[in-house]
Amino acid sequence: MHDTTNWVTEVYSKDGSALSLTGATKLHEEQSPFQRIEIYDTAAFGKLMVLDGCFMVTDRENFLYHEMMTHPALYTHPDPKTVCIIGGGDCGSLKEVLKHPEVKRAVQIEIDERVTRVAEQYFPDLCTANDDPRAELKFIDGLKWVKDAEPGSVDIIIVDSTDPVGPAEGLFNEAFYRDCHRALGDNGILVQQSESPLFHLELQASIHGHMRNAGFGQTRTLFFPQFIYPTGWWSATLAGKGDLHNFRRDDALNKPYATEYYNADIHQAAFAMPEFFKRRLAK
Ligand code: SAM
Repeated sequence: MHDTTNWVTEVYSKDGSALSLTGATKLHEEQSPFQRIEIYDTAAFGKLMVLDGCFMVTDRENFLYHEMMTHPALYTHPDPKTVCIIGGGDCGSLKEVLKHPEVKRAVQIEIDERVTRVAEQYFPDLCTANDDPRAELKFIDGLKWVKDAEPGSVDIIIVDSTDPVGPAEGLFNEAFYRDCHRALGDNGILVQQSESPLFHLELQASIHGHMRNAGFGQTRTLFFPQFIYPTGWWSATLAGKGDLHNFRRDDALNKPYATEYYNADIHQAAFAMPEFFKRRLAK
C-alpha cells in the first residue's frame, strides 16, 4: 500500500477531471525564462517532470510516448538519414531516434535549455544518447530553426512539444507546417504530438487540415495509451510528402535494438481509426 497523503495533481479544468500521483516528494523547482520546471519522486511512477503544472514524463511509462513518436515514422520513411526533433528537451525521443543505425544526424531543437539540463540530472536514462556523435543539441526556437533550414535537408521532423500554448502555440499552425514541408526532402515525414482523441478532437481535425493545406499529400493519426496525459489515451499525427502506408515491416521485425512497446504489429494496429474520429475527419 502506497502513502496516500502526498499527492501531486494535474487538473484538466476545461474537461472537469484531474490526475494525481501519490507519495510525491518535490526534488526540484525553478522558473526558467520559458516555464516552471518541477521534478517529483513518486511512489508508483518513479520520477515525474512537470512543466507549468502539466505532467510531461515519468520513469515508468515514458517509453510509450517516445517509442510511438519516433519508430513508426522511422520505419515509414524509406531511408531516414537526417532527423530533427523540435522540443523534446527530456531527450527521450532523441534516444529512440538514435537507436536506428541508418540515422546519420539527429538535431534536437529545444527552446528551453533548462529542461534538458534538469533531465540530464533527474532522468539520466533518457539522456544516454546525448553524447552520441550523431546528436546535435540546439537551444533555440524550433519555429526559427525550421524557417531557416535548407530546403529538402531533413528526412523526418518530430514535433515533441508541449500543449499548443505559449512558445509551442506556433508549432500547431499552417505556416509552421509549410516551413516543415519546405525543409523536408522527398518522402519527408512530419510527426506532431497531437493530444487526446477524447479531449482534443477539434484540434486533431485542425492539425490534419493545416498539414494538407501546407502541401502534404497524406496525413494519418496513430493512437497509443499514455497514463499520465489527459484521458490516458494519446496520439501522434503524421504528414507525408510520400506514401505514409509504406512500412519497412521486415526492418521493424528485425530491428537491432530492444523496445518496450513498439513492434511491427503495434505499428500497423496503431493507425486503426475509431468511428468518431473517422466521422470528424470526413467532415
Ligand atoms: N512529452 C511531452 C508532452 O507531450 O507533454 C512533451 C515533452 S517535451 C519536454 C516538450 C518541450 O517542448 C518542452 O521542453 C518545451 O520547452 C519545448 N518547446 C515548446 N515550444 C517550443 C518551441 N517553439 N521550440 C522548441 N521547443 C519548444
